[in-house]
Amino acid sequence: MTSRERVIAMINRKPVDRIPVITGSAMVVEYIQKIGGVWPEYHRNAEMMVNAVSMMHTDAGTDNIVIPFGMFIESIALGLDVKMGALDIQPSVRSSFKEPTDVKYENFLEDPYVRTTIEAIKLAKERFPDAAICPFLVAPVTLAGDLMGAENLARLSLKCLKKEEHMEKMKKWISVALEINKIYARACIEAGADILYYSDASASPNLVMPDFYYKVGVPAEKELGDFIHSLGCPWELHICGNAVPILEGMASTGADFLSIEQAVGMKEAVRIAGNVPVVGNVTPNLMIDGTEEQIISDVRKGLDGGAKASMLGCGTPPSSTSDRLKIWVKAVRDWSAENL
Ligand SMILES: [Zn+2]
Repeated sequence: MTSRERVIAMINRKPVDRIPVITGSAMVVEYIQKIGGVWPEYHRNAEMMVNAVSMMHTDAGTDNIVIPFGMFIESIALGLDVKMGALDIQPSVRSSFKEPTDVKYENFLEDPYVRTTIEAIKLAKERFPDAAICPFLVAPVTLAGDLMGAENLARLSLKCLKKEEHMEKMKKWISVALEINKIYARACIEAGADILYYSDASASPNLVMPDFYYKVGVPAEKELGDFIHSLGCPWELHICGNAVPILEGMASTGADFLSIEQAVGMKEAVRIAGNVPVVGNVTPNLMIDGTEEQIISDVRKGLDGGAKASMLGCGTPPSSTSDRLKIWVKAVRDWSAENL
Protein backbone atom coordinates (compact mmCIF):
# COMPACT_ATOMS: atom_id res chain seq x y z
CA MET A 1 0.00 0.00 0.00
CA THR A 2 1.15 3.54 -0.60
CA SER A 3 0.93 5.93 2.31
CA ARG A 4 -2.09 7.59 0.77
CA GLU A 5 -3.88 4.27 0.20
CA ARG A 6 -3.12 3.25 3.78
CA VAL A 7 -4.63 6.40 5.27
CA ILE A 8 -7.67 6.27 2.98
CA ALA A 9 -8.22 2.59 3.85
CA MET A 10 -8.09 3.48 7.56
CA ILE A 11 -10.72 6.18 6.99
CA ASN A 12 -12.93 3.72 5.14
CA ARG A 13 -12.55 1.13 7.92
CA LYS A 14 -10.83 -1.22 5.45
CA PRO A 15 -7.84 -3.49 6.27
CA VAL A 16 -4.39 -1.87 6.22
CA ASP A 17 -0.96 -3.46 5.66
CA ARG A 18 0.26 -1.53 8.70
CA ILE A 19 -1.20 1.10 10.99
CA PRO A 20 -0.83 4.56 9.37
CA VAL A 21 1.35 7.16 11.05
CA ILE A 22 0.05 10.68 10.64
CA THR A 23 1.33 14.03 11.71
CA GLY A 24 -0.46 17.20 12.69
CA SER A 25 1.13 20.56 11.90
CA ALA A 26 4.84 20.06 11.33
CA MET A 27 6.97 23.16 11.83
CA VAL A 28 10.02 21.07 12.69
CA VAL A 29 13.10 23.26 13.06
CA GLU A 30 15.55 20.46 12.20
CA TYR A 31 13.84 19.90 8.85
CA ILE A 32 13.42 23.60 8.13
CA GLN A 33 17.14 24.12 8.67
CA LYS A 34 18.04 21.06 6.64
CA ILE A 35 16.28 22.44 3.56
CA GLY A 36 17.64 25.95 4.10
CA GLY A 37 14.27 27.40 5.13
CA VAL A 38 14.31 31.01 6.26
CA TRP A 39 11.99 32.45 8.95
CA PRO A 40 9.40 33.90 8.44
CA GLU A 41 9.72 33.41 4.70
CA TYR A 42 8.81 29.72 4.91
CA HIS A 43 5.28 30.68 5.96
CA ARG A 44 4.62 32.32 2.58
CA ASN A 45 6.89 30.40 0.25
CA ALA A 46 5.27 27.24 -1.14
CA GLU A 47 8.54 25.71 -2.31
CA MET A 48 10.20 26.12 1.10
CA MET A 49 7.04 24.93 2.86
CA VAL A 50 6.75 21.74 0.84
CA ASN A 51 10.47 21.02 1.09
CA ALA A 52 10.31 21.28 4.88
CA VAL A 53 7.00 19.53 5.68
CA SER A 54 7.57 16.73 3.17
CA MET A 55 10.59 15.60 5.21
CA MET A 56 8.10 14.28 7.76
CA HIS A 57 7.12 11.83 5.00
CA THR A 58 10.42 11.23 3.21
CA ASP A 59 12.72 11.23 6.24
CA ALA A 60 10.66 10.45 9.35
CA GLY A 61 8.25 8.19 7.47
CA THR A 62 4.80 9.59 8.26
CA ASP A 63 2.04 8.72 5.78
CA ASN A 64 0.75 12.26 5.37
CA ILE A 65 2.08 15.71 4.58
CA VAL A 66 0.55 18.66 6.41
CA ILE A 67 0.36 22.18 4.95
CA PRO A 68 0.67 24.97 6.18
CA PHE A 69 2.68 25.20 9.42
CA GLY A 70 0.31 27.15 11.64
CA MET A 71 -3.23 28.23 12.48
CA PHE A 72 -2.97 31.89 11.54
CA ILE A 73 -3.53 31.85 7.78
CA GLU A 74 -7.27 32.56 7.91
CA SER A 75 -6.72 35.43 10.37
CA ILE A 76 -3.86 37.14 8.56
CA ALA A 77 -5.78 36.87 5.28
CA LEU A 78 -8.72 38.68 6.91
CA GLY A 79 -6.46 41.52 7.98
CA LEU A 80 -5.97 40.67 11.65
CA ASP A 81 -2.62 41.35 13.33
CA VAL A 82 -0.48 38.27 13.58
CA LYS A 83 2.74 38.09 15.53
CA MET A 84 4.97 35.90 13.41
CA GLY A 85 6.62 34.06 16.33
CA ALA A 86 10.08 32.70 15.63
CA LEU A 87 11.80 29.75 14.00
CA ASP A 88 10.51 27.56 16.82
CA ILE A 89 7.42 29.54 17.90
CA GLN A 90 4.10 29.40 16.04
CA PRO A 91 2.62 32.69 14.81
CA SER A 92 -0.28 33.95 16.94
CA VAL A 93 -3.31 36.17 16.27
CA ARG A 94 -3.14 39.45 18.19
CA SER A 95 -6.19 41.51 17.19
CA SER A 96 -9.89 40.95 16.61
CA PHE A 97 -12.99 42.45 15.00
CA LYS A 98 -15.72 44.35 16.85
CA GLU A 99 -18.68 43.09 14.84
CA PRO A 100 -19.28 40.15 12.50
CA THR A 101 -20.11 42.67 9.76
CA ASP A 102 -16.58 44.10 10.03
CA VAL A 103 -15.14 40.88 8.61
CA LYS A 104 -14.49 41.24 4.87
CA TYR A 105 -13.64 38.08 3.02
CA GLU A 106 -14.46 38.77 -0.64
CA ASN A 107 -10.78 38.63 -1.58
CA PHE A 108 -9.83 35.85 0.83
CA LEU A 109 -8.37 33.57 -1.83
CA GLU A 110 -6.14 36.32 -3.17
CA ASP A 111 -4.23 36.74 0.08
CA PRO A 112 -0.55 35.75 -0.32
CA TYR A 113 -0.64 33.33 2.65
CA VAL A 114 -3.79 31.62 1.40
CA ARG A 115 -2.29 31.42 -2.07
CA THR A 116 0.84 29.87 -0.60
CA THR A 117 -1.25 27.12 1.02
CA ILE A 118 -3.06 26.40 -2.23
CA GLU A 119 0.16 26.42 -4.24
CA ALA A 120 1.86 24.18 -1.65
CA ILE A 121 -1.00 21.64 -1.82
CA LYS A 122 -0.61 21.46 -5.61
CA LEU A 123 3.16 21.17 -5.37
CA ALA A 124 3.03 18.47 -2.67
CA LYS A 125 0.44 16.52 -4.62
CA GLU A 126 2.58 16.65 -7.75
CA ARG A 127 5.82 15.66 -6.01
CA PHE A 128 4.46 13.20 -3.46
CA PRO A 129 1.42 11.54 -5.06
CA ASP A 130 1.86 8.55 -2.72
CA ALA A 131 1.42 10.60 0.46
CA ALA A 132 -1.90 11.83 1.89
CA ILE A 133 -1.90 15.60 1.48
CA CYS A 134 -3.63 17.21 4.45
CA PRO A 135 -4.22 20.96 4.64
CA PHE A 136 -4.25 22.12 8.27
CA LEU A 137 -7.26 24.41 8.73
CA VAL A 138 -8.94 26.34 11.52
CA ALA A 139 -12.37 24.91 12.39
CA PRO A 140 -15.45 27.15 12.87
CA VAL A 141 -15.52 27.71 16.66
CA THR A 142 -11.80 28.50 16.73
CA LEU A 143 -12.07 30.76 13.70
CA ALA A 144 -15.05 32.58 15.26
CA GLY A 145 -12.86 32.95 18.37
CA ASP A 146 -10.04 34.41 16.29
CA LEU A 147 -12.48 36.85 14.69
CA MET A 148 -14.06 38.09 17.94
CA GLY A 149 -11.06 37.48 20.22
CA ALA A 150 -10.59 34.37 22.38
CA GLU A 151 -11.70 36.13 25.58
CA ASN A 152 -14.91 37.28 23.94
CA LEU A 153 -15.53 33.77 22.71
CA ALA A 154 -15.21 32.42 26.25
CA ARG A 155 -17.50 35.16 27.60
CA LEU A 156 -20.13 35.02 24.85
CA SER A 157 -20.15 31.21 24.90
CA LEU A 158 -21.39 31.35 28.51
CA LYS A 159 -23.88 34.16 27.93
CA CYS A 160 -25.41 32.61 24.84
CA LEU A 161 -26.43 29.52 26.77
CA LYS A 162 -28.59 31.73 28.98
CA LYS A 163 -30.06 34.36 26.68
CA GLU A 164 -31.39 34.07 23.16
CA GLU A 165 -30.13 37.51 22.07
CA HIS A 166 -26.56 36.47 22.88
CA MET A 167 -27.12 33.24 20.97
CA GLU A 168 -28.17 35.30 17.95
CA LYS A 169 -24.93 37.23 18.18
CA MET A 170 -22.88 34.05 18.52
CA LYS A 171 -24.61 32.55 15.49
CA LYS A 172 -23.66 35.58 13.42
CA TRP A 173 -19.98 35.11 14.27
CA ILE A 174 -20.18 31.39 13.57
CA SER A 175 -21.92 31.96 10.28
CA VAL A 176 -19.18 34.34 9.08
CA ALA A 177 -16.56 31.80 10.16
CA LEU A 178 -18.39 29.06 8.24
CA GLU A 179 -18.56 31.17 5.07
CA ILE A 180 -14.79 31.63 5.19
CA ASN A 181 -14.24 27.96 6.08
CA LYS A 182 -16.20 26.89 3.02
CA ILE A 183 -14.39 29.19 0.60
CA TYR A 184 -11.04 27.93 1.85
CA ALA A 185 -12.11 24.26 1.99
CA ARG A 186 -13.31 24.29 -1.61
CA ALA A 187 -10.05 25.86 -2.81
CA CYS A 188 -7.98 23.27 -0.90
CA ILE A 189 -9.99 20.39 -2.33
CA GLU A 190 -9.75 21.78 -5.86
CA ALA A 191 -5.98 22.03 -5.38
CA GLY A 192 -5.86 18.28 -4.70
CA ALA A 193 -6.13 17.85 -0.92
CA ASP A 194 -6.73 14.25 0.16
CA ILE A 195 -8.06 15.00 3.66
CA LEU A 196 -8.91 18.31 5.34
CA TYR A 197 -7.45 18.40 8.83
CA TYR A 198 -9.43 20.73 11.11
CA SER A 199 -8.35 21.81 14.53
CA ASP A 200 -11.10 23.26 16.70
CA ALA A 201 -8.72 24.09 19.53
CA SER A 202 -11.02 26.71 21.05
CA ALA A 203 -13.96 24.28 21.19
CA SER A 204 -12.05 22.42 23.90
CA PRO A 205 -13.65 22.03 27.35
CA ASN A 206 -10.51 23.86 28.54
CA LEU A 207 -12.01 27.04 27.04
CA VAL A 208 -15.78 26.60 26.57
CA MET A 209 -18.48 24.55 28.27
CA PRO A 210 -19.33 21.14 26.79
CA ASP A 211 -22.93 22.37 26.63
CA PHE A 212 -21.81 25.16 24.29
CA TYR A 213 -19.92 22.67 22.16
CA TYR A 214 -23.02 20.51 21.77
CA LYS A 215 -25.34 23.46 21.01
CA VAL A 216 -23.06 25.53 18.77
CA GLY A 217 -19.85 23.65 17.96
CA VAL A 218 -21.33 20.36 16.76
CA PRO A 219 -23.85 21.90 14.32
CA ALA A 220 -21.19 24.25 12.93
CA GLU A 221 -18.63 21.49 12.42
CA LYS A 222 -21.31 19.25 10.94
CA GLU A 223 -22.38 21.92 8.48
CA LEU A 224 -18.78 22.39 7.35
CA GLY A 225 -18.18 18.62 7.27
CA ASP A 226 -21.29 18.00 5.15
CA PHE A 227 -20.08 20.66 2.73
CA ILE A 228 -16.64 19.00 2.51
CA HIS A 229 -18.25 15.59 1.94
CA SER A 230 -20.44 17.07 -0.79
CA LEU A 231 -17.18 17.94 -2.58
CA GLY A 232 -16.01 14.34 -2.19
CA CYS A 233 -13.31 14.88 0.42
CA PRO A 234 -12.90 13.30 3.88
CA TRP A 235 -12.02 15.36 6.97
CA GLU A 236 -10.37 14.93 10.34
CA LEU A 237 -11.45 16.70 13.53
CA HIS A 238 -8.94 17.53 16.25
CA ILE A 239 -9.88 19.14 19.56
CA CYS A 240 -7.27 19.82 22.22
CA GLY A 241 -7.33 19.15 25.95
CA ASN A 242 -9.51 16.70 27.84
CA ALA A 243 -12.12 16.08 25.14
CA VAL A 244 -13.87 13.21 26.97
CA PRO A 245 -17.02 15.25 27.80
CA ILE A 246 -17.45 16.23 24.14
CA LEU A 247 -16.25 13.11 22.32
CA GLU A 248 -19.74 11.86 21.65
CA GLY A 249 -20.49 15.19 20.00
CA MET A 250 -17.28 15.07 17.97
CA ALA A 251 -18.24 11.61 16.73
CA SER A 252 -21.69 12.91 15.72
CA THR A 253 -20.29 15.63 13.42
CA GLY A 254 -19.68 13.14 10.61
CA ALA A 255 -15.90 13.63 10.80
CA ASP A 256 -14.13 10.72 9.12
CA PHE A 257 -11.83 10.36 12.09
CA LEU A 258 -11.14 12.07 15.39
CA SER A 259 -7.81 13.17 16.79
CA ILE A 260 -7.29 13.46 20.54
CA GLU A 261 -4.65 14.71 22.90
CA GLN A 262 -2.63 12.78 25.48
CA ALA A 263 -5.02 14.10 28.17
CA VAL A 264 -7.54 11.55 26.85
CA GLY A 265 -7.13 7.81 27.32
CA MET A 266 -7.32 5.98 23.98
CA LYS A 267 -9.41 3.10 25.25
CA GLU A 268 -12.08 5.38 26.64
CA ALA A 269 -12.07 7.57 23.53
CA VAL A 270 -12.47 4.58 21.25
CA ARG A 271 -15.37 3.32 23.35
CA ILE A 272 -17.19 6.67 23.23
CA ALA A 273 -16.51 7.33 19.54
CA GLY A 274 -18.12 4.03 18.53
CA ASN A 275 -17.43 3.27 14.88
CA VAL A 276 -15.62 6.56 14.16
CA PRO A 277 -11.85 5.90 14.04
CA VAL A 278 -9.81 7.66 16.74
CA VAL A 279 -6.14 8.62 16.39
CA GLY A 280 -3.65 10.55 18.47
CA ASN A 281 -2.68 10.82 22.12
CA VAL A 282 1.04 10.05 21.78
CA THR A 283 2.75 12.61 24.06
CA PRO A 284 4.23 15.22 21.66
CA ASN A 285 7.10 16.24 23.96
CA LEU A 286 8.54 12.73 23.74
CA MET A 287 9.69 13.79 20.25
CA ILE A 288 11.89 16.41 21.92
CA ASP A 289 13.43 14.56 24.83
CA GLY A 290 11.85 11.12 25.14
CA THR A 291 13.98 8.01 25.44
CA GLU A 292 13.52 5.18 22.95
CA GLU A 293 11.76 3.10 25.62
CA GLN A 294 9.37 5.92 26.53
CA ILE A 295 8.44 6.57 22.91
CA ILE A 296 7.87 2.90 22.12
CA SER A 297 5.78 2.36 25.25
CA ASP A 298 3.61 5.46 24.63
CA VAL A 299 3.04 4.57 20.98
CA ARG A 300 2.09 0.99 21.86
CA LYS A 301 -0.26 2.13 24.60
CA GLY A 302 -2.28 4.12 22.05
CA LEU A 303 -2.38 1.26 19.56
CA ASP A 304 -3.28 -1.28 22.27
CA GLY A 305 -6.06 1.11 23.23
CA GLY A 306 -7.53 0.86 19.74
CA ALA A 307 -6.10 3.86 17.84
CA LYS A 308 -6.65 3.37 14.11
CA ALA A 309 -3.60 5.48 13.27
CA SER A 310 -0.70 6.67 15.36
CA MET A 311 -0.56 10.41 15.80
CA LEU A 312 0.91 12.75 18.36
CA GLY A 313 -1.52 14.40 20.80
CA CYS A 314 -1.28 17.68 18.93
CA GLY A 315 1.05 19.06 16.27
CA THR A 316 4.61 17.80 15.93
CA PRO A 317 6.68 20.08 18.24
CA PRO A 318 9.18 22.43 16.55
CA SER A 319 12.08 21.01 18.57
CA SER A 320 11.34 17.39 17.64
CA THR A 321 14.40 15.44 16.56
CA SER A 322 14.36 13.29 13.46
CA ASP A 323 15.81 10.28 15.29
CA ARG A 324 12.90 10.33 17.75
CA LEU A 325 10.35 10.77 14.95
CA LYS A 326 11.86 7.68 13.31
CA ILE A 327 11.61 5.70 16.57
CA TRP A 328 7.90 6.62 16.65
CA VAL A 329 7.33 5.40 13.09
CA LYS A 330 9.33 2.21 13.68
CA ALA A 331 7.37 1.49 16.87
CA VAL A 332 4.16 1.60 14.80
CA ARG A 333 5.66 -0.72 12.16
CA ASP A 334 6.76 -3.20 14.83
CA TRP A 335 3.39 -3.13 16.58
CA SER A 336 1.64 -3.67 13.24
CA ALA A 337 3.88 -6.63 12.37
CA GLU A 338 2.97 -8.27 15.67
CA ASN A 339 -0.71 -7.43 15.79
CA LEU A 340 -2.22 -7.13 12.28
ZN1 LIG B 1 -4.31 20.14 19.98
